[in-house]
Amino acid sequence: NAYVSAIEQANPTFNAYVATTPDKAREMAKASDAKLAKGEGGALEGIPLGIKDLFATEGVHTQACSHVLDGFEPRYESTVTANLWADGAVMLGKLNMDEFAMGSSNETSYYGPVVNPWRRSRVQTTVKPTFHDGGSGFVRPGGVEESRSYDNMQLVPGGSSGGSAAAVSAFLCAGATATDTGGSIRQPAAFTGTVGIKPTYGRVSRWGTVAFASSLDQAGPIARDVRDAAILLKSMASVDAKDTTSVDLPVPDYEAAIGKSVKGMKIGIPREYRVDGMPDDIEALWQKGIAWLKDAGAEIVDISLPHTKYALPAYYIVAPAEASSNLARYDGVRYGLRVPGKDIIEMYENTRAAGFGREVKRRIMIGTYVLSAGYYDAYYLQAQKVRTLIKRDFELAFAAGVDVILTPATPSAAFGIADQDMAADPVKMYLNDIFTVTVNMAGLPGIAVPAGLDGHGLPLGLQLIGRPFDEETLFQTAHVIE
Ligand code: GLN
Repeated sequence: NAYVSAIEQANPTFNAYVATTPDKAREMAKASDAKLAKGEGGALEGIPLGIKDLFATEGVHTQACSHVLDGFEPRYESTVTANLWADGAVMLGKLNMDEFAMGSSNETSYYGPVVNPWRRSRVQTTVKPTFHDGGSGFVRPGGVEESRSYDNMQLVPGGSSGGSAAAVSAFLCAGATATDTGGSIRQPAAFTGTVGIKPTYGRVSRWGTVAFASSLDQAGPIARDVRDAAILLKSMASVDAKDTTSVDLPVPDYEAAIGKSVKGMKIGIPREYRVDGMPDDIEALWQKGIAWLKDAGAEIVDISLPHTKYALPAYYIVAPAEASSNLARYDGVRYGLRVPGKDIIEMYENTRAAGFGREVKRRIMIGTYVLSAGYYDAYYLQAQKVRTLIKRDFELAFAAGVDVILTPATPSAAFGIADQDMAADPVKMYLNDIFTVTVNMAGLPGIAVPAGLDGHGLPLGLQLIGRPFDEETLFQTAHVIE
């Protein structure tokens, strides 16, 4: 009830939820109460969660925040959400996101932007003269007054899981599901002072999660701290006959990794992540993270991931290519919106023209271009080769004994809604993903953990990257930083 009324009150401000399910929430909570009264109940019994609009939820709004899925309510449940309900979690509703998870600011959503619960602050220092020294007229400052004011600029929560991050940050759910194709869990977590983990590709089933770029997509939790994220991931992860890329490995007790010492652990610092024009605040945060881990007994080693600079351009070929193929299914016949035309071809055209937003259309055009007969070798094939090289960079670092790699999560703190520069140049928006996309290209696990505030009091995050299926070490190390 507390969460339901908090959402009622605050959602008009933040726009984090695009659909709420208060009746379902109360019904599920009642069932949890009954179980708990009998001393039964799963790991998440009665815990209220928000679900990103990308996950199929039976009979409940599932539109990937796109107009093309208008009115779509699936007849089935995604494996991730089914796992959560089986462990006793309670559904509060569906969370806002960039349309089809394409974006880094939650501004491409058909339902409008999400507002970051954080505000930029300004500390004003005023020096107050309190007395005059004799008759000399010399003013001696008697005190320094500080006042903090918050400016009115609304900031983005990051994307594409902007609703998930904002809802967790604003206490509108205890935790949330999210997905990460090129940073969409980690970047919004960093922008909102929350914890987000993208597990190893294959750790979590993709079945029933609307596909963006199938070889990169992976679901994970956004939570208030590292322990909550560990508990949620344990419930979300499973092998699944309905997703043949899901992996048949036991799901460890991630929570048990928290509190273990990092003494003797080797932390790699990749020199290629020191990008030009990186703000001082981010560099300082990175150094702080290094110092904390060193103090905790870890060994810091300089490493090189030489193909890093190709990751972003290669990602923005591979991801749109796969997206253009996945999005071919929205034709006005099978799901959601249908805009009639004089024949079936015109109906397809009208539906897709009206149903997809600008960014999604841009991705479909890039994707079909790089896959087209004359350009396939020059773009798509080349990007796949680069992807292999990026993966190999990480393999070499881990083979040399590195346990975890530490980097900043994002190249900046949260920026303003309708930022002029980014609106004018989509590549500027894509640069947000510079530290996160490599992890998806290599299929590795990565966690973003809040590590401090910038000069305006906005949260900043650090990222830890681990060996395949070694999420435990990420939780262990992240807990030292948080
Ligand atoms: N911002 C990236 C993109 O727009 C990543 C999105 C994601 O991880 N879903 O493609």
